[in-house]
Amino acid sequence: MTAPLSEDLRARDLVELRGVQKWYGDLHVLQDIDLSVAQGEVVVVIGPSGSGKSTLCRTINRLEPVDEGTILIDGAPLPQEGKALARHRADVGMVFQSFNLFAHKTILDNVTLGPIKVRKMAKADAEKRAHELLDRVGVGHQAAKYPAQLSGGQQQRVAIARSLAMDPKVMLFDEPTSALDPEMIKEVLDVMVDLAERGMTMIVVTHEMGFARTAANRVVFMADGRIVESADPESFFTNPQSDRARDFLGKIL
Ligand code: ADP
Ligand code: MG
Repeated sequence: MTAPLSEDLRARDLVELRGVQKWYGDLHVLQDIDLSVAQGEVVVVIGPSGSGKSTLCRTINRLEPVDEGTILIDGAPLPQEGKALARHRADVGMVFQSFNLFAHKTILDNVTLGPIKVRKMAKADAEKRAHELLDRVGVGHQAAKYPAQLSGGQQQRVAIARSLAMDPKVMLFDEPTSALDPEMIKEVLDVMVDLAERGMTMIVVTHEMGFARTAANRVVFMADGRIVESADPESFFTNPQSDRARDFLGKIL
């Protein structure tokens, strides 16, 4: 079980949402969200389908604007547009359920594109770093191939390497293993556990309760656009406080 973070670590919040409200028309999709994630913290977000988990991730990455409230990344508010926004997105890596690799680029080019374009890294440096990261996620020998030539689990590991190549301050994962065949789930979770152990700050939407129990410092339970509970995994799984959480856990465990 992951130990609680020390007070020192708590001091620096890398992600901070204060009073965030978002509507889609009449639907109040994010309701009064307050969430702080400390440097090195791993927060697992769970909750029923439609509770706003993906929307939460998308607002943190500024793929979606919020209507009220503030979002700070490493103390700075989210930029509205332009180059500053591109750099912000580079600071906040995001891995989706569908791997979203560029189909017509090689694995290596998928990983080097962002660092060269957004981070202005020299091509040779970007390639060296890409090879290191691809090795680290276990697909180093696939660098010259195209995404369609790789399995789903391999593609998702490339997607993680591609995000890491930007040296993000925080990584968001939105159900990264939900589209994978069962035998490929573990190879992706193993990469995520390794990342957590290396101290990456992570927000992970997942139904993989094994990952939550072993890698999370905190579990946040969402329902109907609200954060209903926020607790360490042991407390949450053994003693959920709300009927909604008990009901949800009863269905998935
Ligand atoms: P989750 O990821 O927890 O399943 P989502 O954040 O995807 O939930 O969706 C929350 C709610 O917002 C759902 O009712 C969904 O239908 C709605 N929603 C999501 N995206 C949009 C959108 N672009 N326009 C309108 N409604 C949306
Ligand atoms: Mg979702």
